[in-house]
Amino acid sequence: MSEVKRAHNFNAGPAVLPLEVLQQAQAEMLDFNGTGMSIMEISHRSKDFEAVIQTAETNLRDLLNIPTNYKILFLQGGATLQFAMLPMNLRASGSADYVVTGVWGQSALKEAQKLGAARAAANTEKDGFTSLPTTLDADPNAAYLHFTSNETIHGVEFTSEPEAPSGVPLVCDASSDFISRPIDVSKYGLIYAGAQKNAGPSGVTIVIVREDLLERTPANLPIMLDYRKLAENQSLYNTPPSYSIYIVGLVFQWAKKLGGLAEIHKRNQEKAALVYKTIDESGGFYRGHAQTNARSLMNIPFRLPTEELETDFAKEATKQRLIGLKGHRSVGGIRASVYNALPLESAKALRDFMQEFQRTHG
Ligand code: PMP
Repeated sequence: MSEVKRAHNFNAGPAVLPLEVLQQAQAEMLDFNGTGMSIMEISHRSKDFEAVIQTAETNLRDLLNIPTNYKILFLQGGATLQFAMLPMNLRASGSADYVVTGVWGQSALKEAQKLGAARAAANTEKDGFTSLPTTLDADPNAAYLHFTSNETIHGVEFTSEPEAPSGVPLVCDASSDFISRPIDVSKYGLIYAGAQKNAGPSGVTIVIVREDLLERTPANLPIMLDYRKLAENQSLYNTPPSYSIYIVGLVFQWAKKLGGLAEIHKRNQEKAALVYKTIDESGGFYRGHAQTNARSLMNIPFRLPTEELETDFAKEATKQRLIGLKGHRSVGGIRASVYNALPLESAKALRDFMQEFQRTHG
């Protein structure tokens, strides 16, 4: 077979997956584990699929060092469904707090407000979502305090958790920096993440929830919105997105084999530094969106002197197989997403392209 020529994939999500994972999925496609069938063609109640979902869970527990009093759920509906499921399950008749540092946090807050009381404990919109809040106006009686660890569009990432008032569970939308670095799960009440950035393909959303919080779930929720019911059934109440879960499991295995999250974090720092250094040394030709202390290791939005140059940049990059660099429509400019599975060579290729583009257009 001729060697595959992979693109330098800077897509924001769905995004680059590890080559080894794709190759293993390819090798197992026609005959999974000697069954003579693909994993897509077998029952979610079979012992083969049960092993897949259980191994995925065990490997995620290892990777994130998840304490035993947390449940792991593999759900559908994307992170967006969690914006609604979370308050439905955890808020009861109280009010919930949100730290808003970008469009995703704002969307989570708006969705929660449709269903009950929710407020912003901080909101950095006035500075164009370029920063992290320095103080919180947190409600000590809130049902939970929600934050978005990495704002995918604005490229703003928390390096440590915001402090919730004593007794208020911390809830995190970790969709775009999930398993990108070690975190202390015991600080959290609940973490959720759509898989399609760091953890796998779209179609599955991972929820890690402290067991005692499941007691808050009201009795009258529809089953598919009921964390407690879904947890009691090990995410197998109904047919789960089995292929997505299988790939997520392969990604967890890959991450462990690389050396775990400390090693992955180190690699992510190295890749992001290549791009930020190029921005900082460009004499203002490239301008990063986020303030330096809020810079994301996952998504790097930046501007060029004119929109015409930005259009040319994305076009010329695509010709050289640097894909997915056009910024989100709400921020404009360029965005490079440099997730776990992006090879170092791709970050180097972007740096070289940026330097060359500035030399020829600056
Ligand atoms: N939260 C964040 C931080 C995101 O980046 C995204 C998707 N880009 C979402 C939520 C929404 O995720 P989904 O498309 O899985 O509903």
